[in-house]
Amino acid sequence: MRMPQNVTILGATGTIGLNTMDVIARHPDRYRVFALTAHSRVDELAELCLRYQPRYAVMLDEVAADKLQKKLHGTDTIVLSGIQALEQVAAHTETDIVMAAIVGAAGLRPAIAAAYAGKRILLANKETLVMAGSLFMQAVEKGGATLLPIDSEHNAIFQVMPQERLAALEHGGVRRILLTASGGPFRQSSIAELAAVTPAQALNHPNWVMGPKITIDSATLMNKGLEVIEAHWLFNAPAEKIEVVVHPQSVIHSMVEYIDGSVLAQMGNPDMRTPIAYGLGYPDRLHAGVTVLDLFQVGRLDFEKPDTGRFPCLRLAFDALKQGGTAPAILNAANEVAVEAFLNGRIGFQDIPRLIESVLTMMNIDAVQSLEQLIEVDNQARAQAMEWKQLQAC
Ligand code: NAD
Ligand code: MG
Repeated sequence: MRMPQNVTILGATGTIGLNTMDVIARHPDRYRVFALTAHSRVDELAELCLRYQPRYAVMLDEVAADKLQKKLHGTDTIVLSGIQALEQVAAHTETDIVMAAIVGAAGLRPAIAAAYAGKRILLANKETLVMAGSLFMQAVEKGGATLLPIDSEHNAIFQVMPQERLAALEHGGVRRILLTASGGPFRQSSIAELAAVTPAQALNHPNWVMGPKITIDSATLMNKGLEVIEAHWLFNAPAEKIEVVVHPQSVIHSMVEYIDGSVLAQMGNPDMRTPIAYGLGYPDRLHAGVTVLDLFQVGRLDFEKPDTGRFPCLRLAFDALKQGGTAPAILNAANEVAVEAFLNGRIGFQDIPRLIESVLTMMNIDAVQSLEQLIEVDNQARAQAMEWKQLQAC
């Protein structure tokens, strides 16, 4: 009998983290929770630790870690804090699988640590690839890591893409990647309606239950823009070979078009446990607790072209990908600041692309050289974005 594999979950208290534990709990013979991490939610992480009894629990915040330590007194879980501790559990010799599910640029360093340590990485944290795609892919190669995309679209593409893609898409006979998008809650809203959108309305996604940042990204279509950049790095695809297709039912999770006219799609109910189970079990298929797709109930599948006039974030992301260098890192950092400002009621919905465009125009775009440089660029872009926000407020 084989030993269960040790899983480290970065971002355990988030939607992806919780879904990962749901799948793991269905397969106690195959997987064991080794380390759980969170930003600062002590009660939630404490409850998860009592239930899954990990070897390590890490909180980014030191004060939160102290509180967690007290709550876990008398258990075998070792409590650590800080970014280095996140890297440590991601790269730990006893960790077999790392679920990278921290939200935002904060997930970059632990994901890189897992890559250099040669882990099986289940990558949900798309911002890692947007910010530092070239460096992360190099780290995966150097460390001999196995990278499995968890973002539902990229997981779908991975499932229907031939292995030859690693050399070049053409070698596998691929013509294009068709990246599907639900269109979000404002797919049919006019420009005038978009001006009045509130955070509560934007947080109400029609098909998926997700954390607040990605939910707002889905409403602006920046999520799809980030995913275009993510697909570029994962599948060696230039921007011209990636087409975004709005598909409101979210049943087809993406498609690959081949030179012979074939189009392969992966379908299923919108439930993140499917890609998570795929990543955990690959190449095996696992039960994931997901309801079987009822095509008769779905009835029809619709497709539309995205409207970058109403949703400029998608255009900004395509442009940043074409510009290359540090442009996607700037786009990502400015977007994170903009989304937070929108959620806090400081800027309007349509200010999100305005702020990002203004930061991209103000900053120099350089070639990517190192992780330190990208972290510095990320900081500078955040500072620029904060300034824009204050300017608008006066
Ligand atoms: P979430 O907001 O629900 O959870 C985020 C997790 O990250 C939490 O555990 C939080 O404690 C942790 N975290 C936040 N900031 C941190 C920091 N600075 N340092 C350390 N930890 C921090 O987010 P989510 O919806 O689970 O998404 C996680 C990632 O997965 C995102 O990158 C998102 O784009 C991606 N993703 C999510 C979905 C989805 O359905 N939720 C689908 C595809 C991709
Ligand atoms: Mg997605």
